[in-house]
Amino acid sequence: MASEFDIIRRYFTRPVKRALLGVGDDCALISPATGMVFAVSTDMLVEGRHFLAGADAARLGHKALAVNLSDLAAMGAAPRYATLALALPQADEAWLGQFTQGFFALAGTFGVELIGGDTTRGPRNISVTVIGEVPAEQALRRDGARAGDEVWLSGCTGDAALALAHHDRRIRLDNAALAHCRARLDTPVPCIALGLALRGLATSAIDVSDGLVADVGHIAERSGVAVELRYADLPRSRALRACGDEGLAQQCLLAGGDDYELAFTAHPDARGRIESVAADLGFALTRIGKVSAGQAGLVSVYDAAGSMMRIASRGFDHFGS
Ligand code: ADP
Ligand code: MG
Repeated sequence: MASEFDIIRRYFTRPVKRALLGVGDDCALISPATGMVFAVSTDMLVEGRHFLAGADAARLGHKALAVNLSDLAAMGAAPRYATLALALPQADEAWLGQFTQGFFALAGTFGVELIGGDTTRGPRNISVTVIGEVPAEQALRRDGARAGDEVWLSGCTGDAALALAHHDRRIRLDNAALAHCRARLDTPVPCIALGLALRGLATSAIDVSDGLVADVGHIAERSGVAVELRYADLPRSRALRACGDEGLAQQCLLAGGDDYELAFTAHPDARGRIESVAADLGFALTRIGKVSAGQAGLVSVYDAAGSMMRIASRGFDHFGS
């Protein structure tokens, strides 16, 4: 049976280039590039809550890092380092091999160095901390939206939630739609290049992890503004357009979560430059609403006829009822 130290050596110790010191000492040593500050974020995946027992280990390795990188994207930060705290029921080397394969493949794509962590026995739990760099004054914060700004969304929302709805037998997707939605749920791709390109363009940004209305609501609250979304303008995947259950489609689009797209605000004058970013980087970017000086934190959704819609759920809240 591999010891804790065998596991760390075999699976988590990789050479580092940028860090001054990586895995193996009491602490890693890092310093930001000139003019940069560190952006730091942690997200945890808990078995039974964020993934099912028996979930594919390589996809978990990918997702555990991807959801964290998504927070760096939303801040306009360039990914640099990660730490990994792992609780495992046993030293399962087949699982560890697959998990690290998924983790390091994505880390390689975005130039992330694993510089430390902790490994312990316990109910399966994966906690990743990522560290990125951004010029302090260009960080894409949640509190910069202003009345008159437009609201933008990358990609589309709802597909990951649709995969879960299929799993729970609330809907039956055809094979192509299921494959598409499962990939969105299991192996999300963080919008890193988009976050970097939005420095100096977006007035605020957030990644959509808990549901579109809930996350746009966080921008509205922190910025002290209201947001009006146009339901008909929300981008929809083929799978979502084919969803026969309009109530479910609405729930997935507005409150599904696990989307890892970027929602952001920008002054209308930035529209042309944002459209160039979309074309140059190959991101679909859609204007989905506007910021107004209404009640701070309020997000209203309007239908095609201009009437305010009643929304059953804003999104996900771990301690909500
Ligand atoms: P300590 O007892 O000082 O906390 P550990 O024995 O837990 O040290 O860890 C030894 C080294 O291995 C440290 O550098 C730590 O950051 C690293 N490490 C432990 N677990 C992981 C992991 N899952 N991923 C990356 N690095 C890890
Ligand atoms: Mg330790």
